[in-house]
Amino acid sequence: MRKALPETNEVFIYEKQGKPVVWDFFAEEIVDAVNNKENRKQLVFIELRNWLSRYLQEGITDALLDDLNSAIHETRYAKYILPVDLMSSETGLPQNAYVAQYDKLPDPRAYAADDFSKLLTSGQLKRLKICQLEECDNFLLGPPQARWCSKTCGSKFRVREKRKRDSQ
Ligand SMILES: [Zn+2]
Repeated sequence: MRKALPETNEVFIYEKQGKPVVWDFFAEEIVDAVNNKENRKQLVFIELRNWLSRYLQEGITDALLDDLNSAIHETRYAKYILPVDLMSSETGLPQNAYVAQYDKLPDPRAYAADDFSKLLTSGQLKRLKICQLEECDNFLLGPPQARWCSKTCGSKFRVREKRKRDSQ
């Protein structure tokens, strides 16, 4: 059984075929999937994009949390006593947990809300931004000074700024 990584601040475990499984949580992968042009017609990514945009516009408001809670409400949970090799504990004893049941994939809306809630509670969204190049609507996770999703967008932006300055 694979162990949850100790350095992740939150461990996500779900149930698959009657067994608790550790969910590898990579915020960058989720953001990349939302940015991917080929995914843009899929409801789950459309919904995720809406959540991320809304978060950037309004922050963590009561209204956002209310809507998030109603979207994830349909996810079913099963109670598990997790062995210490899956989730270590300070007491060295097996831990009590409620595990999301994902055998039957939830509705895309609930699925997107669940992904968004993981991004939110893990603290990863503190790094979320939208690319500053006008026509690029990619999200990025980066340090406070980061402004573009890629080097390409950064150099396009700088070329444009220079042209603006030169024509003045
Ligand atoms: Zn960009």
